[in-house]
Formats: sequence, C-alpha cells, structure tokens
Amino acid sequence: MTSLPVPAAPEPGRDCPLCPRLAEFRAEARAKHPDWHNAPVASFGDAKAQLLIVGLAPGMQGANRTGRPFTGDYAGDLLYATLLEYGFAKGVYQARPDDGLKLVDCRISNGVRCVPPQNKPLPAEINTCRPFLANTIATMPKLRAIVLLGRIAHDTTLKALGIRAVTAPFGHGSVHKAERFKLYDSYHCSRYNTNTGVLTPKMFRSVFAAVRKELDS
Ligand code: SF4
Repeated sequence: MTSLPVPAAPEPGRDCPLCPRLAEFRAEARAKHPDWHNAPVASFGDAKAQLLIVGLAPGMQGANRTGRPFTGDYAGDLLYATLLEYGFAKGVYQARPDDGLKLVDCRISNGVRCVPPQNKPLPAEINTCRPFLANTIATMPKLRAIVLLGRIAHDTTLKALGIRAVTAPFGHGSVHKAERFKLYDSYHCSRYNTNTGVLTPKMFRSVFAAVRKELDS
C-alpha cells in the first residue's frame, strides 16, 4: 500500500468544475429542479467511525435530490434498514435528511460525488473524483472496515488505497485485508440488483453481520 494522496480541498465545493459533463448535468438538474440539492454530496457520518461504506454515485432522485447519501431512493431503503438492524444507525429512516436518523460508528460516502447520467460515471470522472474518496479514508483515524457497494466502488477504493486489483478481486461476500482495514465486497443494493435477485436482503445482511462481528471482536 502506498501513502494516500490528500487533495488540497478535503471536500468538493458546490460548483466543483472538475468533471465538465457532470457539471453540465448538474446545471440542467438545477434548472429543472431548483429546490433539489443538485451538488456534490458530502459524506454522512462521523469521521471517527470505524466503518465506512462506499457507494457508486448519488442517484438523481435520491442523494442528488435530498443531499444525503442513499436518502430518498430504493437503495437507501435496504441500506438504512440493514444499518439499523446491525446497530450502525439509530432512529427511524424516513427518506429525508431531516428525519433525525444518526449513524453509529459508521460513515457513508460515494466514489463519485455528483450524479451521473444513467447512474454511469465515466472512467475519467471516477479517476477525477478519487482524491476526495482518498481524503475521506485518510481522515478517518479509527477506520477498520470498508464496505464496498459494487465493482466500481471496489475498484476505485482499491486505487485510492494503492492496492493492486489482482490481489483483491471483487466478489460478493469477499473480504480483503489491507493493513489496518478489512474491505468487504457487496453487490450494490440498487433496485435493479434486488429486483433481479442478484442481491437478496439476506445476502446484504450477511455482509454487515460479518462487519459487526469483526468490530465487536
Ligand atoms: S464528480 Fe467529484 S470531481 Fe467530478 S465534478 Fe463532482 S465533485 Fe468534482
């Protein structure tokens, strides 16, 4: 593992211009929905948490609308229900950033901070946003476990950590050791994956059960 690159600005500004296509898409969304967040979505949760969850990117009607990761779309329903079940959140998830839900020893971020068209960021956009992910990881002093939701989150996090992909292939339920961290792979909790049976709630819960066991040991 190499030392983590830390960008000069730890969080992107509301008008981050680094990905022109995404900045243009953001501007279109602002024109159509001026009451939505329509900006890079900041990480949610305490930087002193032991668990970090890395998703792909904000969903248009989810985090891009509400401004809180995984809040307001189907993926959030499954994620927050599972976090509540395993003690990584408390309160009641009501799909709104002001629902009072608190994460417990857990933080949620995305590999790409701005909503991409069709939920598909380009490789260059993933690369451009990676320093913000690297900074998120580098500024979590107690971090022990990272849950990677989907292959893109897996790949970009490995790169952020300087881990060679061949040493940690993606697979649902796979666990990779990386110095002080353990990386837990999961299929993304998207509506598509759950509707098609690629990911069942039971499969998803098993990932967080393993994290819970590790952090409680
Ligand atoms: S995806 Fe990341 S790097 Fe690209 S414009 Fe948004 S915040 Fe900036």
